[in-house]
Amino acid sequence: QQTAYLKAYERKIKLPPHIEEVGREIGIIAEGLGFKAYLVGGVVRDILLGKEVWDVDFVVEGDAIKVAELLAQKHKVEFHPFPEFGTAHVKVKGLKLELATTRRETYPHPGAYPLVEYASLREDLLRRDFTINAMAVSVNSQDFGTLIDYFGGLRDLKDRLIRVLHPLSFVEDPVRILRALRFAGRLGFKLSKSTERLLRSAVSLGAISSAPKGRIMNEVRLALREERFLEILELYRKYQILAEIFKGITWSPKLEKKLLRLRDIITWHKIEFPKEVMDYGWVYLLVLLEEMKEEEGMAFLRDISAPSWVRETYKIMKRGSKSTEKSLLEAKRNSEVYLSLKNKPLYFLLMLMTKENLKEKVKLYLEKLRFVKVNVEKFRGLSGRELGEAIEKEKMKIMDEALE
Ligand code: ATP
Repeated sequence: QQTAYLKAYERKIKLPPHIEEVGREIGIIAEGLGFKAYLVGGVVRDILLGKEVWDVDFVVEGDAIKVAELLAQKHKVEFHPFPEFGTAHVKVKGLKLELATTRRETYPHPGAYPLVEYASLREDLLRRDFTINAMAVSVNSQDFGTLIDYFGGLRDLKDRLIRVLHPLSFVEDPVRILRALRFAGRLGFKLSKSTERLLRSAVSLGAISSAPKGRIMNEVRLALREERFLEILELYRKYQILAEIFKGITWSPKLEKKLLRLRDIITWHKIEFPKEVMDYGWVYLLVLLEEMKEEEGMAFLRDISAPSWVRETYKIMKRGSKSTEKSLLEAKRNSEVYLSLKNKPLYFLLMLMTKENLKEKVKLYLEKLRFVKVNVEKFRGLSGRELGEAIEKEKMKIMDEALE
C-alpha cells in the first residue's frame, strides 16, 4: 500500500550534469556506509524551474558528516563539520554543498528555535515550509534521479502556488510568513487559498511580533537581496505586515510612486553601469527609512545589522539631503551640479534621482560630469593639494565650456 502511494508521486528528473556527477558520488559513498542520500529543498525547486544552482543541499538518512568527510577526501578538499547540527559543508568543483542528517523538528513554543532529532526522509521533508521546498531527488544508484514529492510540490510549482504543509505552519514558525511572501514575490507565485487564509489568521493573532526579532530581521535582509524586492514589499503591505516590520512608516500612494520611480532608476543604472552593479535592496530600504525619524531609522538599521556604509549614507540622507537638494536645485552651470554631488555615495545619488526635479541633474553627473578627465601634464611642477585643486578647477572649466 505504502509503496503504491509513493509510486504515484514519483517520477524521474534529469539533473544538470555538474550536480548529477557529484550526486552520483555522494550516492555511492552513502551506500558504502549503508545510508541513503537525497538532493533536497530549494535546489530541487530551482532545478525544476530550470534555474542554475551552485548551492546544493543533500540529506543523508545516516551520518551526513561521515559522507561529507569521505567526499572531501576523494576530492582532496577541506570539509567543515558542524556536529551539533549533524551537518557539514564541502566545496567541490565550484559547488557549495551542504550535507545534513535527516531530522525532525519540534517547536517548544511559537517562533522559537526548534528542537532537533534525527528522523526519516519523510519527516525531514514534513518539517519544511512549503510544498515547492519539500521535494527530494534520490541520488542512490537503484533509483537515481527519482523525484520524491509527498506533498504535491510539483503540481504547485506548475500551478505557481505557495502552499504550507500543515495548518499550524505559520503559527509554529512565523518567519514562514515572510518566507511565503518572499518566494511569492520572487517567483511571481500566489498563495493557495487555504495558505492565504492561514497566513492572514496568523498575522491577525500577532505572530510577527511574537517571533524573535533577530530571525525576522534576518529574513528581511534576505528579502532585500531579491531582485523583486519591491514586489515583496507590496505583498508585505497586502498582508498587513509592512507596518509591523517598518514601524513608523505609513504607506501612501506618494511613497509607492517614489519606490516605482526607484525601480526604473535601478533598471537604468544596471544597464548603463553594469560594472557598478550593487546591492540595490539597500537603496529601497533607504528610501523607505527616509520616512522615519532619524533615531528610528538608525535603530532599524542596527536591528538589521546593516553595514556601516549604509548607516553613513542614511545619516547623509537625513542630515545633508536638504542642503544638497537645495544647491542642486539652484545649480545652473555643470560645475555647480558637479560640486553639489561630488564625493556623495552612489546609493545616495540613486535615491536623489527619485525626486523628479533633480533627476536630470543627477543623471548628468553620473553619466558625464564625474568622468571628466584633464591632462595632468599641464600641471607639471605642482603637487599635493595644489595639484588637486588645479585639476578640479580645470575639470570644472572643461565641463562648463566644452561639455554640450
Ligand atoms: P533560497 O533560494 O532563498 O536560498 P532555499 O529554499 O534554498 O531558498 P534556504 O533558506 O536555504 O532556502 O533553506 C533551505 C530549505 O530549508 C528550504 O528550501 C526549506 O525546505 C527549508 N527551510 C528553510 N527555512 C525554513 C523554515 N523557516 N521552516 C521550514 N523549512 C525551512
